[in-house]
Amino acid sequence: MSRKLLNINCLPAVMFALSIGVVGCGNQATSTSFTQSTTRVNYNLPQVVATTSILCDLTKQIARNTVNLTCLIPPDADPHLYQPKPEDRTALEQANLILYNGYNLEPGLIKLIKATKSNASKIAVAPIAVPQPQKFRQSGNIVTDPHIWHNPKNAIRMVEVISRNLVKLEPSNAETYNSNQIKINAELTQLDSWIKSRIASIPTDKRTLVTPHNALSYYTKAYGLSLVGSVEGISTNKRPTDTQVKNLAKKIQQTKVPTIFPETAINSNIIQSVAAAATVKVAERTLYTDGLGDVGTDGETYQNMMAANTRTIVEGLGGTYLIFQPKASK
Ligand SMILES: [Zn+2]
Repeated sequence: MSRKLLNINCLPAVMFALSIGVVGCGNQATSTSFTQSTTRVNYNLPQVVATTSILCDLTKQIARNTVNLTCLIPPDADPHLYQPKPEDRTALEQANLILYNGYNLEPGLIKLIKATKSNASKIAVAPIAVPQPQKFRQSGNIVTDPHIWHNPKNAIRMVEVISRNLVKLEPSNAETYNSNQIKINAELTQLDSWIKSRIASIPTDKRTLVTPHNALSYYTKAYGLSLVGSVEGISTNKRPTDTQVKNLAKKIQQTKVPTIFPETAINSNIIQSVAAAATVKVAERTLYTDGLGDVGTDGETYQNMMAANTRTIVEGLGGTYLIFQPKASK
């Protein structure tokens, strides 16, 4: 079935498995009916394309069924390494609005988006939402951390950017978009407070995070966790050397980190070898770092994904997990 036959449409989990297992994260899906939409085709609706599952879900929560939404990066695919497919090109050529993360999160698609001749508005959401991103030194270079959504306050700004561009695209739906934006943002504000309260339940000397790739620095900064190190850097395109693994293991032992965390779709051998070298536990649950969880997982929407990650971290570091139950806004 063509992707164009669905109003809200994400590609199925077809791709991926990179040879060497440094495959990053990434996941796709959205709330409720994303991949199983039965909505009838309405070719009169504007065509919106979003690159990542995060952007897709937020766009879907704002736009509901007012657009034909096509999501490009499938579940379990890594945006850092994602190679566009011919259908992606077609979707981009037919789009009226293209939303992408930017800050080089999805370099393959960004290149294609820039090369695509179309009248569509091409919006790099992250640089508009967070114009002063976190930066890191990596192999002698300063790199921008593109994973801005791991702080719900940044997600609130992303929602504002998406909503504003949807209003430009379909001014007649402005009221719906604005009211959905207000509802979502009220929930994200509650999510932020809930994460704060759960992280506060972790003993102070255990608030330390080690992950395979460096994707959670916006989270650790927002919630006062220290990031001891990651096995890889910001991107996932380099396999760590034995020396890097050894150095990280040493750091872990020095800081007495109780648990280290795997990520969805990242080869768990890497984190397992660090754990073995440092003799620490690997968390049973995995973190959603570069996208949402697949349909049916506990990371299916942006809000659920953030709550699931917090659960993983809180349980792994000896805090108390309580279910996130946002109060509905009036
Ligand atoms: Zn990443």
